[in-house]
Parts: sequence; C-alpha cells; structure tokens
Amino acid sequence: MRWAGWGDPAHAVELPDAVTALLEQALGVRRPQRAPARPGDIELPPPALSPRILDALTAAVGADHVHTDRDARLRHTRGRSTPDLLKLRAGDATDAPDAVVLPGGHEEVLAVLRACTEHRVAVVPFGGGTSVVGGLAPRSTGFAGVVALDLRRLDRLVAVDPESRTATLEPGLRAPRAEELLGAHGLTLGHYPQSYEYASIGGFAATRSSGQASAGYGRFDSLVVGLRVATPRGTLDLGRAPASAAGPDLRQLFLGSEGALGVITAVTVRVRPAPTRREYEGWRFASFAEGLAALRRLAQDGPLPTVLRLSDEAETAVGLARPTELGELGQADGCLMITGYEGPVTARRAEAAVVLRDLGGEPLGTEPGEDWARGRFHAPYLRDALLDAGALVETLETATYWSALPKLYEAVRGTLTRTLTEQGTPPLVLCHVSHVYPAGASLYFTVVAAQAADPVEQWWRAKAAASDAIVAAGGTITHHHAVGTDHRAWLAAEIGDLGVEVLRGVKASLDPAGVLNPGVLIP
Ligand SMILES: Cc1cc2nc3c(=O)[nH]c(=O)nc-3n(C[C@H](O)[C@H](O)[C@H](O)COP(=O)(O)OP(=O)(O)OC[C@H]3O[C@@H](n4cnc5c(N)ncnc54)[C@H](O)[C@@H]3O)c2cc1C
Repeated sequence: MRWAGWGDPAHAVELPDAVTALLEQALGVRRPQRAPARPGDIELPPPALSPRILDALTAAVGADHVHTDRDARLRHTRGRSTPDLLKLRAGDATDAPDAVVLPGGHEEVLAVLRACTEHRVAVVPFGGGTSVVGGLAPRSTGFAGVVALDLRRLDRLVAVDPESRTATLEPGLRAPRAEELLGAHGLTLGHYPQSYEYASIGGFAATRSSGQASAGYGRFDSLVVGLRVATPRGTLDLGRAPASAAGPDLRQLFLGSEGALGVITAVTVRVRPAPTRREYEGWRFASFAEGLAALRRLAQDGPLPTVLRLSDEAETAVGLARPTELGELGQADGCLMITGYEGPVTARRAEAAVVLRDLGGEPLGTEPGEDWARGRFHAPYLRDALLDAGALVETLETATYWSALPKLYEAVRGTLTRTLTEQGTPPLVLCHVSHVYPAGASLYFTVVAAQAADPVEQWWRAKAAASDAIVAAGGTITHHHAVGTDHRAWLAAEIGDLGVEVLRGVKASLDPAGVLNPGVLIP
C-alpha cells in the first residue's frame, strides 16, 4: 500500500492538466506549500509495552510474529480515511500501536486476548486496514499499551460445501484472493466494495460492508450464514442452520461489531456460481428525481440488475461515475444511471430496459457502463492525486426510506455546502445512490474543496454538521462505512441510550477488561 495514500504506488495517477486548472479556477485549490512527510521523517511515540508483556505476546504467537519495528507500527497506524491520510502526510503518527502481533489461528487469537486481558493491553483487530471511520484508532489512555492484531496469517479457504453453496473463509483473506480461491471451485462471493483490492473478509463482516454489486449479491452481512468468534471469555460458534428460531440471532451481534466484542476468526458465507457473462450499460435521466423514481420501481417491482447506481446532476456533470475518463468527457447533462448484469443477462436486461424507457430513461449503450466497470476501483487513486494538488476530498454516506430520500439528499448537500463555504472554501458536492432496497436506498456523497490551513479540522467541522443534518432528516449515521470513532457520538441518536446500554452490557460480559478496540463503536 502506498505510503499515506492508496494502492500500489505503481498505479498512482496524475491529474489531467484540465482538471487541475478547473480546480484552481472553480474552487481556489492551490498546491500545498509543504511536501507530505516521508515515513523516515516521522517521529513515533516511544513503544509502551514492558518486556513482560512482550514476553506474554511472544508466548502466544511466537517471536517471529511480534513486531515492534517502526515500519510495522507505522503501517498499522489508523485506516484510510482522508483525515487519516492527511494526519500521516502532516507527520502525525500519535495513534501508532506499540506492537503488531500476527496470530496463526483461532487458538493463538484466544491466547493473545488472554494475555492482553491479563496485562490490560488494548487490542485492535486489523484486517485490510481500510477503515474510513477511525475504527483502527482506539482510545489508549488507561491501558498498558496498544497492540494491532493483524489477521493476515489467517488466510485460508477452510471449506466449500457446493451442495449448500456455502464456503468458510478465514478473516485475513483479502477480497481478490478470496475470489481467486472460490473461483477455483467455479464460485464467487460477488462482494466488490471500492476498497476491494485491500479489504479483508473479517473486515467486511465486522463493518457490515456493502459492495458495488449489492443489488444483485446483497450486502456482506446478508451473505453470512456462520461465524466463529474469539473473545476474552472464550469462543462462540454461530450459525448452525440456514434459518433458526432459537432466540435472537447472535450472529447479528458480531456483524458490525467492529472488533469491540470479539475477533472474527472464520466466516461462512453464501456463494454462487461465478457468472460467465457480465454486461454494464448507461442510461440518462433528465433529473435526479426521475432517476430516483426509476430506481425505486426496479428495486420494488424488478427486474433487479446486479449493479444499480444513479449519479445526481453534479456528479454526472463532473463524470465521477467514469473516473478514468475524468477531464476527457464533455459536460454531461441530466443524471447518469449505471445498470450491470452478471450471470443470467439477456431476459433481465431486456425487461429492465422496458421499465427504464417507460420511466423516461434514454439508453446510452454499453460504453458508459464499461467505463464505470473499468474505473470502479480507480477513485481512491484519484484521491491521492487530488490531495497532492491541494484539494480536500472525502466521502460520506447514509440511507433512508424512499419517501424521505429527497429531504435527506437536500439536507446533507445543503449542510456540506454551507459549512465549507462559511470556512472560506466553497465545495463541490457530488452524490449518487449507491445501494437500493425495496424500502429505500443509500446516498453516497463526495465532497471536493480547497484545503484550508488545517484540513483535518476543516473536514471535521463539515462532517459533524452533516452528521447532525443526517440525524435530523431521519437518515442512518452510516449505511456501510460503520461507526468507528468518527460516528460514535451519533450512535445514541440512532439506537437510543437504552440501545447503547445493551451494547455496553454485551461488551462487559464478553470483554470484562474492556481491551477490545476501546472507544470504537460503543460510546
Ligand atoms: C478507498 C476506500 C473505499 C471504500 N469503499 C467501500 C465500499 O464500497 N463499501 C464498503 O462497505 N466500505 C468501503 N470502504 C470502507 C472499508 O473498506 C470497509 O469498512 C471494509 O469492510 C473494511 O475492511 P478491512 O479488512 O480493511 O477492515 P479494517 O479496516 O482492518 O477494520 C475495520 C474495522 O473492523 C475491525 N475488524 C477487522 N477485522 C476484524 C475481525 N476479523 N474481527 C473483528 N473485528 C475486525 C477493525 O478493528 C476495525 O474496527 C472503503 C474504504 C476505502 C479506504
């Protein structure tokens, strides 16, 4: 992973000159005076763990799998949100863990949790490290140190049950490797978040992730049928049958638990035959409202494409749905919808086309769809180039019922525009509907503005105001990024004080010393 950025450094992108010029003219973006800090320049806090604690960790996983060197600590510092990257670029590594521990299996995870409980060391389960909500930056005060529990050695496809169409995967498997292993059996998981290249199976489960093909394959949590979880109190094996009435579904406690209740050490998921055909296409709608009506019809009455997303007017004009083409497209008007079909294509595509035409859609053919598919993992690379150019660029997401969606859209867009304009940096606010359900949909906002003197504080003020606006407009504080530390202050507004108390009670019984990701998720 690129230092203080995203992806393979060999795939770094440069902004087209036209885009740089436009950013300067339209938003006042100027290249920052100071170059980003280099890893060698960064001062790390002195490691806090005593030799006794390091011995206990070594006893749990072996000396080769306990790392306290600078590089390991730096590479496990926070996640990959824009503030995370900006802090690293500014040379701030204050959240670096004191050690990185790599267990080799479930029993070793249990042993680490026991040692950390005994010595009161905070434990951060670490998958792909792509959290964008502060999920890897726990509270460290009151602890003897912080350990990043990197799960990369738990990387096996444990079992495939072709008859039931399920597969059991270890949590440290990154998504591309998981697809490769399943592909050897002719199967797919079909989970393609934008962080696909780096994010892990355990991370998907722990954050209730949602992929770009969620209309067809479902959210990650809806794919999970079984979980194995290591906690400081012992093991839970959950998911005995595909459906059950044996009390509340405890799997749901751990899906979205963000490392605060236990460490997921195996995930059994529903899988499908790998599709032999994939087709993506574009449609134009005159307005966002018309496009929303068409999305709703498909989500409620079908046929449902595998991929379904709708950019608003601003996002369509900028061409963000086709990021590899940025700067080369003319100004497009109306709203671009992308529909994609994987697996059985022909009948579904033809039927959906009838519905979309009836509702005012203009077919644009496969080119916009193919552009989207080619560039689907490209945007994070573009973010690095924008940060280099002096732009602040970040995303946020929410969801609500169809009837409340227009109000939520206006509230978030208006708040982001107002709060950033008040700070002297009028933004460009772009949005698309990223995931649809029969009852509602999610909104995914991208914000671009000139970086202020303190861009972390600049974003935080805008984000806090947008979070308040989301709550006031009845949206969820997060549709798929999770709570982490960034959304924690808004959790009670969503689930109530009693809901927070229930979570605290569960944590107290599974993690009595409170060492698991303290301060993440649970206020
Ligand atoms: C550029 C970019 C694009 C993104 N696009 C999407 C997207 O399209 N859809 C989406 O849903 N998300 C997206 N995300 C957010 C992020 O990728 C997801 O939240 C993902 O699920 C995190 O997986 P990870 O393996 O990187 O987890 P990490 O970042 O390592 O961890 C995330 C949280 O889960 C905990 N955790 C990790 N593994 C375990 C485990 N085995 N047991 C218990 N707790 C664990 C961690 O402690 C942390 O709190 C994006 C992020 C980036 C940077």
